[in-house]
Amino acid sequence: MPTLGLVAHDHRKPALVRWVKEHREQLAAWSLCATGTTGALVEKETGLPVKKFLSGPLGGDLQIGTEIAEQRMDILIFFWDPLESQPHDPDVKALLRVAVLWNVPVAMSEASADLLLRGLAQGDYQRRVPDHSNYRARTL
Ligand code: PGA
Repeated sequence: MPTLGLVAHDHRKPALVRWVKEHREQLAAWSLCATGTTGALVEKETGLPVKKFLSGPLGGDLQIGTEIAEQRMDILIFFWDPLESQPHDPDVKALLRVAVLWNVPVAMSEASADLLLRGLAQGDYQRRVPDHSNYRARTL
């Protein structure tokens, strides 16, 4: 079962909940995990089970990043707030960095999340997991 990570900053949580409700049927077949407050809200509003990590500002973004780095997450839906800076901005940047590093698809808006799910529904997408062996083997 593919695993999807959900994160939304406070002002973007209503949009994320709306998006999950719109795609509830498809997402019910997935394993969902999320930062703490986002996960609790999605669970309450949709009835879907969500594995909850710590709240984002308390380290939850970094925990989601670990899931990505350990190859336990297939997709990230991250509705960050373009109108407000966050106390944990460095963690936000780290999460986005690690998602790109491991070639995990990320959607940051409803439109991109719609397209991402539509593409996945076709069923033939295989993510290429980057081979970082050259980096690991580098000599200093
Ligand atoms: P939250 O964290 O779901 O616990 O609010 C989200 C975030 O700000 O990264």
